[in-house]
Amino acid sequence: MRTRLVVLATGGTIAGSAASAADNLGYRSAALPVDALLAGIPTPSSSAIETEQVAQLDSKDVDETTWQRLARRARDHLARPEVAGIVVTHGTDTLEETAWFLQRTLAPAKPLVLTAAMRPASSLQSDGPQNLSDALAVAADGRVAGVTAVLGGAVWPARGLRKLHPYRLDAFAGPDAGPLAWVREGRLMPLRPGAAPAPADPALLELDPAAWPRVAMLASHAGADGDLVDAAVHAGYRGIVVAATGHATVHRRVEAALERARARGVAVWVASRCTASDGVPPLPGASDPRWFTPAQARVELLVRLAATP
Ligand code: ASP
Repeated sequence: MRTRLVVLATGGTIAGSAASAADNLGYRSAALPVDALLAGIPTPSSSAIETEQVAQLDSKDVDETTWQRLARRARDHLARPEVAGIVVTHGTDTLEETAWFLQRTLAPAKPLVLTAAMRPASSLQSDGPQNLSDALAVAADGRVAGVTAVLGGAVWPARGLRKLHPYRLDAFAGPDAGPLAWVREGRLMPLRPGAAPAPADPALLELDPAAWPRVAMLASHAGADGDLVDAAVHAGYRGIVVAATGHATVHRRVEAALERARARGVAVWVASRCTASDGVPPLPGASDPRWFTPAQARVELLVRLAATP
């Protein structure tokens, strides 16, 4: 049977367009429809392609409603026996957060592959067509289940994925163990086993987005004080993730405010703002050591708080 791959499009630079092919900065993000992204690119011969425009936005503006709609559509398509996998086109700015959200709410047994681009579709250097073609190859291959991201030929696990650079074509990095595989001419090689998949916790998919627990992400830095922590507690945030220095340390003035927050029942996690490491051991009573970037830690805390109202 010829299987099906479903492309769920959400916008981003991969769907961006500028007036000039030389313009890689002054373009409009999320301008082109999904079918335009697929026009003329190689797709796996084993699969027919279906498309759906789930959203059309710059990923800096992704919100709870976008995530819920995207995850529900992915869930519906994944449940169809003829669907071998899903590809999601997305902006690069919040790709790592959406990747972790989809992993933790769906934990798909089939491939769910995110892809994006650092150059608009109109650019001389456009990387979107190759990235999308590679992502379809990974989805059709089927050996990498769960949520991954395919960018610049690398297949990254969702966990630990991060955007490191605002402009370079090789803008992404993952855990210290490196990519799960590389895509070359539509084939995965080599392929290494990933970490055990994170389980699904789908509570957020059924909860009105307006009722999702609020989780703030704040930073500790030289001269930081605890006012923003106190403000988040006062505003009713149920969780706070601190993008902390080095070994997940926080300024003593912030730490004092976090103690006040914990005493009020607010969940506090600390994640290192150093972007090139694989997580750190926790401060006593604070951080979960498995979470890598502050942005992904925030998604994880959101998922967990929704599961324990
Ligand atoms: N601002 C864009 C977005 O995240 C950047 C990109 O896609 O590269 O939607």
